[in-house]
Amino acid sequence: MKFCNSILETIGNTPLVKLHRVTAGLPCPVFAKVEFFNPGNSIKDRMAVKMVEEAEKQGLLKPGGTIIEGTSGNTGMGLALAAVIKGYKCIFTTTDKQSKEKVDILKAVGAEVIVCPTNVEPEDPRSYYSVARRLATEIPNAFYVNQYDNLANRDAHYEQTGPELWEQTEGKITHLVVATGTGGTITGAGKYLKEKNPDIQVWAIDSYGSLLKKYHETGELDMTEVYPYITEGIGEDFVPQNYDMSVIDHFEKVTDKDGAVMARRISKEEGIFVGYSAGSAVSGLLQLKSKLKPTDVVVVVFHDHGSRYVGKVYNDQWMMERGFLDVKTVKDVVNGRRNQPLVTIDQEEKVSEAIVKMKKYDIEHLPVLHNNQIVGAISEGGLFNRLIDDTNLKDAQIKQVMQHAFPEVSMDTPIEKLSVYINKENGAVITKDDGGKPHIVTKYDIIQALGS
Ligand code: PMP
Repeated sequence: MKFCNSILETIGNTPLVKLHRVTAGLPCPVFAKVEFFNPGNSIKDRMAVKMVEEAEKQGLLKPGGTIIEGTSGNTGMGLALAAVIKGYKCIFTTTDKQSKEKVDILKAVGAEVIVCPTNVEPEDPRSYYSVARRLATEIPNAFYVNQYDNLANRDAHYEQTGPELWEQTEGKITHLVVATGTGGTITGAGKYLKEKNPDIQVWAIDSYGSLLKKYHETGELDMTEVYPYITEGIGEDFVPQNYDMSVIDHFEKVTDKDGAVMARRISKEEGIFVGYSAGSAVSGLLQLKSKLKPTDVVVVVFHDHGSRYVGKVYNDQWMMERGFLDVKTVKDVVNGRRNQPLVTIDQEEKVSEAIVKMKKYDIEHLPVLHNNQIVGAISEGGLFNRLIDDTNLKDAQIKQVMQHAFPEVSMDTPIEKLSVYINKENGAVITKDDGGKPHIVTKYDIIQALGS
């Protein structure tokens, strides 16, 4: 029989997958190390188990003990899996910035989770670092993991991730691109690869609002670099001991928006349902395009799985509220056309006049006016059916045959929302610009806008 003795044995040996679309603009092949294939759905399983086993070896973790950690979720998942198999309790502290899903997932695998405020200094007693530290002293037989300064973190990547990348690329890797937080992944994997080939470039992807890039470049811990940001899992407001900055050749910062938009693109265009930081990593790589040449072989680490971000990056509402989704609105349609006046017809005019106007301007829909106010509408489809029934109708007045006026919507209505108004009976909406000038948006305009 071929089987694993426990779920922990399935950690590692994740696939390297070639990217085709999102990196199409780069001159060289790009491969993703897809770490959500680990049982906890992230790269962190590797270091979590390593940190637990190292603590056992050093006698810091004894049977029946409690594992305590400040974790944004992925490390917690790895630690929780190790705890289930090895028989420990887990208490995690996390911040209120993290996805609710992440917290629920940790609870699902038996951990206790304490949510702490994000926007306090690390030294503040309310911070998730401080709470974890305090619990570790209060609870008997507790082991505080401290993934930031616990060097078993980077060792896991030196022992596993680095060698896997070297073997999978048959030593051809020229660039390693890693979105970085504790520094464990980049330092461990980067160090191993550079020992194999010192020419390999190691690029770290950081977030705006983090001080890591500036520290790498100047050695200065500049707290003015630090402000709250939305990207999860990467960037820091201090420098964890897992960093060996000499392993890293370049730091690149990526905006919250670019990371989120790219994560969605990777899922849609590559079929790899990734977490936020994978989007940041690919965005950062694209920003560095000018440094790459056709003979290069790039590997980007995809740290975790998109399922942890369904309420955030993969939620349109969440993306829109943060200005991350470039939604097309009625205004875009109106601004995208030449400044034509709205073609209308007065309700006292004859149906034959409406037919002449529709032909002349090649339009299907006419708002009907009375005393310069829109009071109704004429549509080619409706008119056609009635004319077939009664050919004399062309001499009738518009007001005898007109339909209800087209619904009026505001200029900032997203195009997608117009489906509520546009249907078989009603083929258009009216909107007014800032100057009060009316414009028509038809089914045809919507199809054009959505297709472009
Ligand atoms: N991406 C995600 C989603 C993460 O959870 C982490 C871990 N904080 C990272 C990237 C960064 O990895 P590392 O801590 O090894 O630098």
